[in-house]
Amino acid sequence: MFLALLLWQSISSSQLHKSYQQSLMKAVTENIRNDYQRYFNELRLEIDAFQQKYRLEISQLNSSADKASEKDYMAVLQLLTSSIKYTRLFAIIDENGDGVLKHITGDFLPSCEKEIASTISEQKQEHLFLHHSKSSVHFDLLQPLISNNETKQFFFVAFNPDVLQELLIKYQLPHQQLFLMRTDKIGKIELTTENTEKSYQKMIMSADEIDDFSYSTEISGTKWQLAIRLDEKYNTEIFIQGIVKAFLIWLVLTFFIYAFYRLEKKRLKKHDVLRQALAYKDNYDSLTGLDNRSSFHKHLLQSISQNLAHRGVAFHIDIDQFQVINNTYGYATGDKYLSQLSIALKEFLPLNAVISRLANDEFAILLPELSYDETKSFAHKIRKFISQMHISQLPQDITITASVGAVVLDDKLLNSEQVLASLAQAVSLAKQKGRNRVQLYQSDDKLLIQHAQEMASIHDLAVALENNQLVLYRQEIRALQNQDEGNQHFEVLVRMKMADGELKAPGYFIPAAEKYGLIKQLDRWVIAATFKAISENEADTNDYSINLSGLTLADRDIYDYVELMFKKYQISPKRICFEITETYAITHLKSALHFINEMKKLGCFFSLDDFGSGLSSFSYLQKLPVDIIKIDGTFIHDIHQNKVNRIFVENIQRTAVAMGKRTVAEFIESEEIANILIDIGITYGQGYYLHKPEFWYQLNQRK
Ligand code: C2E
Ligand code: MG
Ligand code: MG
Repeated sequence: MFLALLLWQSISSSQLHKSYQQSLMKAVTENIRNDYQRYFNELRLEIDAFQQKYRLEISQLNSSADKASEKDYMAVLQLLTSSIKYTRLFAIIDENGDGVLKHITGDFLPSCEKEIASTISEQKQEHLFLHHSKSSVHFDLLQPLISNNETKQFFFVAFNPDVLQELLIKYQLPHQQLFLMRTDKIGKIELTTENTEKSYQKMIMSADEIDDFSYSTEISGTKWQLAIRLDEKYNTEIFIQGIVKAFLIWLVLTFFIYAFYRLEKKRLKKHDVLRQALAYKDNYDSLTGLDNRSSFHKHLLQSISQNLAHRGVAFHIDIDQFQVINNTYGYATGDKYLSQLSIALKEFLPLNAVISRLANDEFAILLPELSYDETKSFAHKIRKFISQMHISQLPQDITITASVGAVVLDDKLLNSEQVLASLAQAVSLAKQKGRNRVQLYQSDDKLLIQHAQEMASIHDLAVALENNQLVLYRQEIRALQNQDEGNQHFEVLVRMKMADGELKAPGYFIPAAEKYGLIKQLDRWVIAATFKAISENEADTNDYSINLSGLTLADRDIYDYVELMFKKYQISPKRICFEITETYAITHLKSALHFINEMKKLGCFFSLDDFGSGLSSFSYLQKLPVDIIKIDGTFIHDIHQNKVNRIFVENIQRTAVAMGKRTVAEFIESEEIANILIDIGITYGQGYYLHKPEFWYQLNQRK
């Protein structure tokens, strides 16, 4: 298209050139014509002047007519040639066109004679013509003869046409050939600049050749026209030059356009990549490539709005104690696990499943076609699948579990926000119930009841703290290997006394206290009450273990508080052991380490409670400078029947010995169990068989 435009441009410019040529040619022919006219006029004047001057001689010659001698004629001719340049011959012609001196000058050529006759009869004697004789070319002028006699006669002079030829050549421009042609004899060339060697007689142009003439104009008062022919080559050259120029321009412009196009394309591509990356970021999780929360929202919304078949279930997966993995094996391993889990889930789940990573270790799954009846079994499938998944970066003995919440997309759940909130509730319930389990969301009372219960328990706790309605129980931790060894040791266990005197176990209020932030207050209360109890009873030389929640460990002021309490009640720190749970210690590793180290400097002991119940107990055992490992009761209560648990406990014992730590076994409920633990070499035992938790202390109530 562009090329066509350029071609058109070049053609039109060659047209322009042509019209310029036209005006040039016009100017050329104009000049020649004027010069010719001037020359002819001068010649006529000169002829007349000559006639006047040699009137006598001419008259004599005329009157002698046939009798005139050649000598007389030559004498006049001599005068004529010396008077007027380029004169060739002269003749005296009568009114019929016949020569008066025919016997000297000879006959005119028949064509010439005819022309002279017609010129005279048409009374256009000023018309001149070129006269081609066999040997030469000359042009003739016919002027009335100036004489005394009455008869109408003419003085005929023939001239050499060199002047005419010179004038043609003088004005000829490059690429032009000029022609002097007859107007009455088509194609007859009188003079030309083209090829002077050509025989003039043969110079007849064909009609086609005449068509090729670029310009022609008549010379008035003559039978001639001036014509110009431009070199064929010249026009083609101009045209070709135009085309080449157009092509070159096209080439250069195309190059620039192409370069610009490439640059623009590159820029757009970059822009596109950026846009795509942003769009990707908007919709996908960068670590796993799964849909992100907002994208999951959209899918959920779609599924809810199209849910005519009453199908579709959403799941929420929360990896249990994932923070422990991150802290123990590093975030790179944690990330690796998450991305591999994502891939595995994709393969495991049906094609139409939407999988999303909602946050750190939380995933959501939408199965739009799953029937409500299959919800529970499918949730378990997911849970089992996750617990079986393993990555090479983690030790073989570590099993990662997940808590799974599920919500059916029924009519009651109007929007995706509600679905996600319900999922979060369900999964948090699954966690509270002990992790690695499935919790279906019940839109009916159950969760509401639970929530109400939590609210009630937190209210009760707040009141109990205010009114000192908390009671301390204690349970002995007994040496298993050497019964006589040192002081008696007790674990302090808190209970809440209700208004009706009922005692509530920690399971009733501690989870809510941790959830709603009262736990720090509770732990401080227990510490203060324990120290007070010890200080109030001088006979009491026992050692005591106090449970501390992870949130308390994370409390920056706890060290100062405990130190203050030691001073206040004058208790030897050596009598106190703090029990911390592995999960909490790990999730708040920095502050836990700070507290542990500072307290140990004072002389306190530390034990790692519920050891083995978490994920990676062994690996972070090294990180926590605890003195005692308290093996979780779930490995102990059936150790006499469960070989695996026995091996596990034996392993813990071996590790503890290797690390120079002591061990406690919880939940010893029988002699058989106690004996097994003695055999294994466990340092201390605790449990209903050895000693049931007993009432120990109650602060004076305010009211
Ligand atoms: P824990 O620290 O592991 O305490 C041992 C729990 O096991 C106690 O339950 C105890 O009554 C129970 N127990 C002892 N021997 C046996 C046995 O032979 N069989 C069975 N099945 N259970 C036995 P309790 O008192 O209900 O305490 C539950 C948990 O509440 C404690 O577990 C501890 O984590 C927490 N807790 C108790 N008192 C406090 C406290 O003052 N502060 C904090 N932060 N947590 C506390
Ligand atoms: Mg404990
Ligand atoms: Mg315990």
